[in-house]
Amino acid sequence: MANIIDGKTLAKKFKDRLKDEVTFLKGHGIKPGLAVVLVGDNPASQVYVKAKGKACEEIGVNSFQHTLHKEIAQEELLWQISELNNDSNVHGILVQLPLPDHLNEEVILEAISPEKDIDGFHPLNIGRLVINQPLFQPCTPLGIMKLLEDTGIDISGKEAVVVGRSNIVGKPIALMLLHKNATVTICHSRTQNLEEKIGKADIVIAAIGKPAIIKGNWIKQGAIVIDVGINRLDNGKLVGDVEFEEASKRASFITPVPGGVGPMTIAMLLHNTVEAAKRQSKGLKV
Ligand code: NDP
Repeated sequence: MANIIDGKTLAKKFKDRLKDEVTFLKGHGIKPGLAVVLVGDNPASQVYVKAKGKACEEIGVNSFQHTLHKEIAQEELLWQISELNNDSNVHGILVQLPLPDHLNEEVILEAISPEKDIDGFHPLNIGRLVINQPLFQPCTPLGIMKLLEDTGIDISGKEAVVVGRSNIVGKPIALMLLHKNATVTICHSRTQNLEEKIGKADIVIAAIGKPAIIKGNWIKQGAIVIDVGINRLDNGKLVGDVEFEEASKRASFITPVPGGVGPMTIAMLLHNTVEAAKRQSKGLKV
């Protein structure tokens, strides 16, 4: 049976370390602050925003929540972001996605100062990741890398298959694995013979958003399986993209859903916010 990668425990370790760091920074007059902008009343987004605010509170980071009307004009939202860019109490800015359809996500994300882009979605931060000179890296992929590191297994030379090619998970995790010298295959909805590709993978990253679409018997014996997917079934249960029970019989390590990648995403958000505060206190520029 696979070892369960315990994201909750690892996230707690990171948060405890960050809490000490925040106490130290406060002693030197620096109070890390995160502004979270929520547009509209999407229930899932409200839950995520609440969890982020709570996590900030736990480690002593100031959290500023801005809830804006779902019909806010793009210009008005851009103006709000510009205010936050110029607010010295705010070191990190996060605009909760998805945005309502009338807002242009790319324009909004690009308006965030790269120095305060703790989600790592600004084109400049993405570009830096591509050339392996990262500044702020997207939180979910960064959390996945920490989970992989924690297994103690060397990624170099391994066959990694990433299923999903979104800008926030699939593409950045593929780059991060590549920078650690894995041989990376990126799969998506048009990929042929997914089963065959997964069957060759030493590391599987599933970031699709469809319950148990990756069958447990596709997994190569001894592979590491990281399940990013969060899917709520009709009975209210949360499940990942991988058939957990079956996959656990073959994998060497596997993340559960919930309790795997999710907690690490929040821990990395806090990590990036503290890093942003440190950089800004030193006057560092991108
Ligand atoms: P997106 O919807 O942006 O991307 C999904 C990807 O899956 C796309 O690239 C799509 O391909 C691919 N895909 C869809 N169907 C198939 C299929 N049948 N076979 C192979 N590939 C397929 O999702 P995200 O990347 O934003 O998120 C993925 C999942 O991870 C979701 O469940 C989300 O909730 C979860 N998530 C979890 C986080 C956490 O902290 N744990 C954080 C972020 C996301 P194509 O590009 O061709 O359409």
